Amino acid sequence: MNTKLIAGNWKMNGGLEANQRLLQEMLAGLAVSPPAAQVALCAPAPYLAQLQTLLSGSPMAWGAQDISAHEQGAYTGEVSGAMLRDFACRYAIVGHSERRQYHQETDEVVAAKAQRALNCGITPIVCVGETLAEREAGETVAVVKRQLAAVIHVVAHCTSEMVVAYEPVWAIGTGRTATPEQAQEVHAVLRAQLQAATGHGKHNRILYGGSMNAANAADLLAQPDIDGGLIGGASLKAADFLKIIASCPAAA
Ligand code: PEP
Repeated sequence: MNTKLIAGNWKMNGGLEANQRLLQEMLAGLAVSPPAAQVALCAPAPYLAQLQTLLSGSPMAWGAQDISAHEQGAYTGEVSGAMLRDFACRYAIVGHSERRQYHQETDEVVAAKAQRALNCGITPIVCVGETLAEREAGETVAVVKRQLAAVIHVVAHCTSEMVVAYEPVWAIGTGRTATPEQAQEVHAVLRAQLQAATGHGKHNRILYGGSMNAANAADLLAQPDIDGGLIGGASLKAADFLKIIASCPAAA
């Protein structure tokens, strides 16, 4: 079993004072109960310096919610991998469904972003997931395999260095979670695809994301191919996030 990874995604939430309070509460909780899991928070870019200051030397790593597909230059508003590396980001989320939906990110753009992260020594958390219409049409497996294949095609021998997050779009921010069985079924498909690509897919961490919370985390995290969670709303509440972390069994 892989060591679990619990990664928070604050999305476009937060503020300097609120972040400080939230991080202090989380750090206090982790000091009392050291995590069996690895823990990370992905914050809006302007707060990465704050996370670097407050989390250096702590059990929590930090990361970005996106990364530019370009190295540098005339791309107003974008943040490059080298800039994220300046703030010691360990992770960058790529291909979150909100970016695919609102910023028209294609599978090819997501793959280029994953490659850019890897080039900068940052672990991409590659999100894949089907919409409700795709699930109801029986297309879940085809959709997630297509999304992951596009990234594997580009990152090739670096595939084993990335984290994958299965995030059914219909479960994100809706309070409707995939059942542990539904999630495990898709995770097993993704695991087999990674295994076929690298020969050692069991080492890739595959996270589940989509309304994971303090009440449902333990059952999801008990599934054999669920190596952790990508947590949106519940990562904005210290008590909930700490309970999810505490739901992680220690690695065997
Ligand atoms: C997410 O934003 O990646 C996510 C899973 O959100 P939530 O936990 O709020 O559904």
